Amino acid sequence: MAELSIISLKVQTSITKAGKLWIPKYFLGCDEDKCISCGQCVQTCPRGVLKLDRIGTRIVSTISDPDNCIGCTACMNACKNQCIICAAKRL
Ligand code: SF4
Ligand code: SF4
Repeated sequence: MAELSIISLKVQTSITKAGKLWIPKYFLGCDEDKCISCGQCVQTCPRGVLKLDRIGTRIVSTISDPDNCIGCTACMNACKNQCIICAAKRL
């Protein structure tokens, strides 16, 4: 399994049983109904994955660059309303 380092922002990869390089990717989701636009997740993300954006009449956290996510879960921990989920995708 991959190991993450928030400090170095490096993602350790693994080799699959078939001998292929595996680069972990992460599933991200934000519950826009619960978002209060505080921006804590955006400020906390070390990779610029999230941004505040207008959805209809509200401004909420949106995922602007999902491929840049390293799965550190800092955004999840920063959100007091528990709007964000981040989980590793399966192979
Ligand atoms: S888990 Fe959250 S804070 Fe970490 S890189 Fe991904 S979007 Fe950014
Ligand atoms: S920390 Fe939570 S409530 Fe604040 S903007 Fe991000 S998702 Fe919305």
